[in-house]
Amino acid sequence: MRTRFAPSPTGPLHLGHAYSALRAHDLAKDAGGKFILRIEDIDRGRSREEWEALIHEDLRWLGLSWETPVLRQSERQDAYRTALDNLWQRGLLYVCTCNRRDVLAAASAPNEGEPLVGPDGIVYPGTCRSKSRMHSGLPDGVALRLNMSSALKQFGKERSGIGSLAAEGGRFRAFQETGRGPNGETGKIHSSYEHLLNNIGDVVLARRDFGTSYHLSVVVDDAFQGITQVVRGEDLFEATLIHVLLQHLLGLEVPTYLHHRLLRDESGNRLAKRHDSMAIRSYREAGATPSDIRDLVGL
Ligand code: GLU
Ligand code: ZN
Repeated sequence: MRTRFAPSPTGPLHLGHAYSALRAHDLAKDAGGKFILRIEDIDRGRSREEWEALIHEDLRWLGLSWETPVLRQSERQDAYRTALDNLWQRGLLYVCTCNRRDVLAAASAPNEGEPLVGPDGIVYPGTCRSKSRMHSGLPDGVALRLNMSSALKQFGKERSGIGSLAAEGGRFRAFQETGRGPNGETGKIHSSYEHLLNNIGDVVLARRDFGTSYHLSVVVDDAFQGITQVVRGEDLFEATLIHVLLQHLLGLEVPTYLHHRLLRDESGNRLAKRHDSMAIRSYREAGATPSDIRDLVGL
């Protein structure tokens, strides 16, 4: 059993992060497994070494320990390109030249209300999908989207007859949930082709500025690090469907997933990184102990 905590060093860790890290750590410890820390710093513009150092400090103070050396996603570009190249060669990616405004305009047909929002924001209306491919090799410095329809077709074809993890009658048996989704989902989670196609759509797998994306990197690295149990917030429940599809397409093991509740402040807002008053460091400096933090997050 291997769990992980995978923060992005773009701000201080707050109580919500502490809760997530402690859940993953305790789970591994109770099972005699390993807890892994991974630094998700693909966003070079927002990641800072100071934040990374503070992550180590806060987690150590909380009493956690982890395997070293710690993997940084910024050092894993080759692995991401290899995975993207694989998908590109199979015709599952296409170049997208839209900016945010283009996507919004194309998705907002007149008199049709708000555009549909999925785990990556507005569901991409497909503007660039049918543009001809001008590159034979994997292109660089462009945004690449997953062609969801082609991906599901390949997934169905490759899996048909195999049974358990197959797409059966348009159903997509996704993953084993050992926690709870936002609507209480637990156990075997199913989705449908239709849901993936219409509510998730052609997600970006390589951003123009990063050469990769959260979805792609997280899947490649969870497999690389042999993570068997992912622990994370229920806000990522829908994104997990994307991850499981990618795991199948790339021939990777599907871990089990534990989605947990999100901590909220007194007014019911999710704790986000901007709530500096909730930063672990502030509690530390105010004289709190690690067990106070466990109390505060309800552990
Ligand atoms: N780097 C992501 C975050 O901080 C990790 C999410 C995940 O656990 O997959 O939100
Ligand atoms: Zn586009």
